[in-house]
Amino acid sequence: MLQKVSLGPKSIDKYYEIYNNGFIDELKSLADDLKGLRLCHINSTPFGGGVAELLLSYIPLVRDLGLTADWQVITGDRRFFDITKSLHNAIQGAQYPLLERTTERVYLQNNLENAKELSTDYDVFVVNDPQPAALRHFCEDRHAKWIWRCHIDSSEPDDYAWQFLRPYVEEYDAAIFTMEKFVPSDLGVPVIVPVAPAIDAFSPKNLPIPKDICRGILDNQGIDRNRPLVVQVSRFDPWKDPFGVIKAYQLAKEKIPGLQLALVGSLAGDDPEGWQIYAAIHDEANKDPDIFVFSNLTGVGNMEVNAFQTAADIVLQKSIKEGFGLVVAEALWKQTPMIAGNAGGIPMQMRGKLSDYLVNNVEECAEKIVYIFENPQVSGELGQEGKENIRDNFLTPRLIRDELALMKRLLK
Ligand code: UDP
Repeated sequence: MLQKVSLGPKSIDKYYEIYNNGFIDELKSLADDLKGLRLCHINSTPFGGGVAELLLSYIPLVRDLGLTADWQVITGDRRFFDITKSLHNAIQGAQYPLLERTTERVYLQNNLENAKELSTDYDVFVVNDPQPAALRHFCEDRHAKWIWRCHIDSSEPDDYAWQFLRPYVEEYDAAIFTMEKFVPSDLGVPVIVPVAPAIDAFSPKNLPIPKDICRGILDNQGIDRNRPLVVQVSRFDPWKDPFGVIKAYQLAKEKIPGLQLALVGSLAGDDPEGWQIYAAIHDEANKDPDIFVFSNLTGVGNMEVNAFQTAADIVLQKSIKEGFGLVVAEALWKQTPMIAGNAGGIPMQMRGKLSDYLVNNVEECAEKIVYIFENPQVSGELGQEGKENIRDNFLTPRLIRDELALMKRLLK
């Protein structure tokens, strides 16, 4: 059932290239204080989506700091993942459609089966998101500290779904939310802290690749390198508003002839809804030769995502609800102009001048696309401000620092 994800090594020392202010030394000293710590992160998919992306770098970097860190993935049947996707949507505020006792039973049974296999050789468990949230309930060993890490915007959850989940979360020693405002008002957990996610500057997805090579890679995917291009990189999910993106592109194209749109999406193992949306987007894209749809199924991996985010004239992230949006940080890090939904964790990444490009609807999105193409000089300024904000606040060592600080507090 439970799978341990195997990961290659990474070096925290690389970050001395970015931080020369003692920050990495402080982080090392914090890790020294925790010497001997055995940490286990648990989530529900090893690929596709932000949590998997985070852990891919976080776990090797924590190991490089001298601590034991593992990443384990729960498994479940198709019904379980249908239910957990509904639960995920409901915690973000959608109405929960499956009000049945059997649904609850399937959720709990799958958590129980996974809990039975969980090794107790850890001092801290961090359980990510609602899918495995009931694991703690079923683990009898009580010596470890348990942290529930919520990555989604849970500020206005569907009441039924939240009241179902809440007692399981309340068994944890601590909870982490991306922002203070995401904490549901009736949650009773002894320690609750806000910690924002982060990206790894040295992962293949974020390494600098020269723009003309990126354009060459896109050329190879059928995109005309001499025509303007807007891109959205996202799971195929209604909250990411892919159809709103298509409409905004269509409106913008009336003023920017030759405009192309690439929708790059991944299908995650814990997201059965994604397949239906993928098919519907394909139908829409088939009507226009300048709309391209790519996915991890057709060979678009981390390097290609990097190429899209680097070579695009504009990256869009037109989310309606968004826990954080690693994709926003990824594009800003590459200094690519970004237009994004004014939702959840996105505005904290788009401060200052960048906030002019937060949009609330399709029309605003189209207007901003046209504005950036008609005023290309803004791109440089936006790029610099965006990159600085990500460097100062949203790189993986800061995330590790915040989480280790919480662990130190809990273990005291
Ligand atoms: N991603 C990817 N390929 C895709 C689509 C997305 O590698 O085709 C990655 C993306 O680069 C980012 C993560 O998946 O690292 C998505 O994280 P985000 O926080 O933006 O959204 P989530 O999927 O967690 O809601």
